[in-house]
Amino acid sequence: MIAVSFVLWFLASFLYHGLGVTLGYHRLLTHKSLKVPTWLKYIIVSGGYLCFMGAPINWVGVHRLHHQKSDQDGDPHSPVHGFKHALYGWMFTMGERQSNEELQKQVPDLLQDKLFCLLGTDHSPSQAGLCFTICIVARLILLAVLGWVPFVANAIASFVVFWSPQLVNSICHMQNHGYRLWKTRDESRNVWWVALISCGEGWHNTHHAVPRCARHGMLWWEFDITYITICILEKLGLATDVVRPQKMPTVQDIHRHGAVVPETLEEQHPPKPAHTVPNNLWNAAEAASILKAEHAQGGSCCGGHGNGNGNGKGAASLSHAKSTVEIESVTVK
Ligand SMILES: [Zn+2]
Ligand SMILES: [Zn+2]
Repeated sequence: MIAVSFVLWFLASFLYHGLGVTLGYHRLLTHKSLKVPTWLKYIIVSGGYLCFMGAPINWVGVHRLHHQKSDQDGDPHSPVHGFKHALYGWMFTMGERQSNEELQKQVPDLLQDKLFCLLGTDHSPSQAGLCFTICIVARLILLAVLGWVPFVANAIASFVVFWSPQLVNSICHMQNHGYRLWKTRDESRNVWWVALISCGEGWHNTHHAVPRCARHGMLWWEFDITYITICILEKLGLATDVVRPQKMPTVQDIHRHGAVVPETLEEQHPPKPAHTVPNNLWNAAEAASILKAEHAQGGSCCGGHGNGNGNGKGAASLSHAKSTVEIESVTVK
């Protein structure tokens, strides 16, 4: 009986905190991949806050900066600056990497929210201390009211959830892990085991290619429980304006258009010129408009080709097909 209770509390805690980070902090607040009622937004985001994620404004400001500078100078947590730095070191130097003024410029939308402002609008130790204190008090209340089993199960789930975005930041940007579906300008990868413990966020290369898309796992084996939850909320009438592709790429599409480029394949077939997706954008609508403008001008690498219907003419036309099919198919409502 204790074992069953433990497992149930673990799963409930894992989903509450995990979705708080992935659905709340990430897809809802940072990328605006969907809309939910305000009361539900606070409930979802509370799961992330109560898992030591810090103030939502800080988290979102850091993550938007990551998308703008991925794996370049200025990326707050790229493993090109060291694995330990990407895993946890960056947390202690954010004040040097992003001034409070820069942080606030990243989040004009969240600065309108008084509750989020109360939780912190800068990288000061006080906002981290406030989050830490509230998280500890919440767990002590859990222990006092419900006892050891829920307390321990929650503590273990919280530990896993706390480290899962750090694994996304580090492992999912390292060349010797996972595979790449998209030729983004960074080193982002899709890594199955990170996706499993991070509620679907490990399909990170796809996320960098189409940041606003609510769905990160695009292929049939890419399990994305956060997106499944979004679909359930939508069915219940609690989520609207979900940003998603009109047409899902299939394995056949990807092989036909040359979009799947796992590293082993890349080694067998030397990299071909490819149309890269600008990754300094966190808005897929902006990415799509830039790609359209480039196509209208003949494009930097795709000009003069058709849309690459498998005539073997070369990667440029194949990449062109990839860009138009997959980027422009994202609907931004
Ligand atoms: Zn990333
Ligand atoms: Zn993101």
